[in-house]
Amino acid sequence: MNSILEVIENNLHQVEVKDKSFIFHIPTTSLFESNDLTGDILSLIPRQDQPTDSSLVQELNTHYPEDDIISALDELKSLSLVSKKGLNNGVEEFVPLALDSVPLTTVVLSVNTGCNLSCTYCYKEDLDVPSAGKKMTFDIAKQSIDMLLKESPDQSRYNVVFFGGEPLSNFTLIKDVIAYSEKVFASKGKIVDFSMTTNATLLTERHVEYFDKHNVGLSISIDGPKAYHDRNRISVNGEGTYDTVAKKAKMLLSRYKSRPIGARVTLTTGITDIDTIWDHLFNTLGFSEVGFAPVTSGDISDYNLKPEELVDVFNNMKKLGEKYLAAALENKTIGFSNLHQLITDIHEGTKKALPCGAGVGMVAVDHEGGLNLCHRFTGSDIPLLGDVKQGLDKPVLNDFLNKRLEQSKLGCSTCHIRNLCAGGCYHESYARYGDPAKPTFHYCDLMRDWVDFGIYVYTEIMEHNPGFYDTYIAPRKAQA
Ligand code: SF4
Ligand code: SF4
Repeated sequence: MNSILEVIENNLHQVEVKDKSFIFHIPTTSLFESNDLTGDILSLIPRQDQPTDSSLVQELNTHYPEDDIISALDELKSLSLVSKKGLNNGVEEFVPLALDSVPLTTVVLSVNTGCNLSCTYCYKEDLDVPSAGKKMTFDIAKQSIDMLLKESPDQSRYNVVFFGGEPLSNFTLIKDVIAYSEKVFASKGKIVDFSMTTNATLLTERHVEYFDKHNVGLSISIDGPKAYHDRNRISVNGEGTYDTVAKKAKMLLSRYKSRPIGARVTLTTGITDIDTIWDHLFNTLGFSEVGFAPVTSGDISDYNLKPEELVDVFNNMKKLGEKYLAAALENKTIGFSNLHQLITDIHEGTKKALPCGAGVGMVAVDHEGGLNLCHRFTGSDIPLLGDVKQGLDKPVLNDFLNKRLEQSKLGCSTCHIRNLCAGGCYHESYARYGDPAKPTFHYCDLMRDWVDFGIYVYTEIMEHNPGFYDTYIAPRKAQA
């Protein structure tokens, strides 16, 4: 009862939103509204010389009933926000993984290394001009699906993702894989979803009809209005592709009904005008969702956003976030994927030890059947994680994951968004430091500020239109 107490700062992040205070409980990514009593306890403990339950009750009982103080303290202790001094510093120990199976649900197939475009900033390690494109064979694709089911037979839902180069340049394989997968997964009583990211230039009405029939989720790579898009997304002849892509996107959006279609925007140096890009893609072209990928560590450093541009990007994302919030309060969505994902994570209490599913929930298969962390690593010099014949090489995978877990436990252990960021994208680290296991430390402050902004948006929606989550988050989750 009279142990000396301390606040476990490493588990606690306090956020003020308008006239309210919230506790962001870091270990569980949960938010609690903090009342006056909780706030007083948390601020009093560091100010007392020897804070104990009794000393706190003694000092606070002129303002609050004793039972309330004890119960608030008990709650803070149960959340490990207050603890006996020296017992717990909130830093999680590094415990090495020894996975002998993985919850694999997704396989990304690099169906052709060839791409008919020549985007200046392209990061793909195994990208080829169209004539040199290496196409995946059906045999490799079939083995990839079989490997997925063998490695992880107990999932109820799986995803097959088509990637390239430009995946539409191997449409025959896509159709064969879909036909095979639909049969195999159905025979096992499992659901399979398909998705693809394309530059849209090869898209025809025949493709759209086919994708609609097979419920294939589609994302289009497009960088905004012509002036932005044509800066980097050019054909092999050096011509801008906006006119073609916009025409094809309009055709797609008018004919395809199965699922919302997203636009994926790559932000490179000189392009930070998030609002104009979103407005064009959402309002003018009619995409359902727009997601932004800021390039901070591309292979070609000339295209990386400069530090001050990255600040602009995050500021502009917050401005668009205000529009997202205003729409959400009217129970509408403006399809701003980056923020939608963040508030989904906050709503669901996402707790990540690893930044993404690469290597664990997902692997990317290169055209020869090699297993890679994700689509960005196909063709890189990072050791393969196995192949479609032998399956995942667990010692190699465990070795990589443990290196990353150890490095992020060390470097990120006191960061309040450690369970949302988990050290950031492996490929960014690889491009920046040559080491995918090293966390991406170059824009942590911006990321932390972005998460605080997400907390603000989340709490405002929760207070003024909690039904937004049932309308826009639960259905998306069910689809995932
Ligand atoms: S990389 Fe930076 S922002 Fe991400 S968890 Fe680590 S310290 Fe935090
Ligand atoms: S490593 Fe990076 S690019 Fe690859 S899946 Fe993870 S977050 Fe995405």
